[in-house]
Amino acid sequence: MNIPDIIIAVDGFSSTGKSSFAKMVAKEFSFLYLDSGAMYRGVTLFAMEQGWIAADGSIDEKSLEAALPSLELHFQRDDEKTKLYAGSRCIEEEIRTLEVSSHVSPVSAIAFVRRWVDERLHRFSEGGRVIMDGRDIGTTVFPNAELKIFMVADVDVRAQRRYDEMVAKGEMPTLEDVRKNLLERDYIDSHRETSPLRQAEDAYVMDNTHMSFHEELVWVLGVIQGKFGILEAPALTW
Ligand code: C5P
Repeated sequence: MNIPDIIIAVDGFSSTGKSSFAKMVAKEFSFLYLDSGAMYRGVTLFAMEQGWIAADGSIDEKSLEAALPSLELHFQRDDEKTKLYAGSRCIEEEIRTLEVSSHVSPVSAIAFVRRWVDERLHRFSEGGRVIMDGRDIGTTVFPNAELKIFMVADVDVRAQRRYDEMVAKGEMPTLEDVRKNLLERDYIDSHRETSPLRQAEDAYVMDNTHMSFHEELVWVLGVIQGKFGILEAPALTW
């Protein structure tokens, strides 16, 4: 199907399956996929490793702000996967731990961190035909995105998905801790002052609590066909 060069913004609560959905769409229609949450996780890992996040969760914002210009984060394709690098070091695994998850929302609520990440997201997206997922892509990063999707799912289903993902990677969290972390992040993300998580007025809402990946793909095809008037039958690889 001939989809025009557009920006697709995918926002929603934690672990609603935004990245799996966005990766699938990117693969199916040859879009560049950008995971904005990975950038916030990268900044958080950096702050943790520098010792700028104390045991009580407080952040040494002064040191972080002074050092941020020298932090170099970028995405690189490795084995068919897009991974986050800090300079030449691949940090894709480290940024997904529960420890990083427990600090990332306060770090991403800081205005200068958001500015730093937004600037890079724009740079990485130059040239269009991008699908990006996050919390404020359709509201702040790309308010003019041609297609905006807001994903929601039942919290127990989200916690179970996240838990399964972590166990598959060899981590041993409890389901309760994972659930608690999701709810904490949802709260902080939707109540912060700068670019809070909220549904853009012109976003299409997808509740994928009971949807398979295939159903998600059929859903997005329907939206794209309806919105852009493309009536040609798609040749899905599924
Ligand atoms: O998408 P992911 O769950 O990996 O994002 C991690 C965290 O990064 C979120 O909980 C949120 O605090 C922050 N984030 C954000 N804005 C975005 C993407 C992620 O504040 N656009």
